[in-house]
Amino acid sequence: MNCHEAAARVYEYLDRELTPEVALEIERHLEACPACYDHFEFQRAFLELLARRGAAIRAPEELRRRVEELLHKDQARRNTAE
Ligand SMILES: [Zn+2]
Repeated sequence: MNCHEAAARVYEYLDRELTPEVALEIERHLEACPACYDHFEFQRAFLELLARRGAAIRAPEELRRRVEELLHKDQARRNTAE
C-alpha cells in the first residue's frame, strides 16, 4: 500500500467499511509513514469533533472534499520539503 492508497481509504477505515485485510494494510502503512499517520489523526479528530457536536455524524460531502484537498496540499508540500 502506498501513501496515495492509504490517504484514499482513510475515511473508509474510520467508518469501518474495509475488510480486515485492507484495514491491516492501512495500519501497517500508518505505523511506517509519519505523513499518513498525521493525516489519519487529523481525520479521526475531525470526525470525532463532528460526532461530538451531534449535528452531523458525517461531514457533508463538500466539506469532506475541501478538507481532503487541504490535507493533500499540505502533504505534497511536506513531501517536497523533505
Ligand atoms: Zn504514507
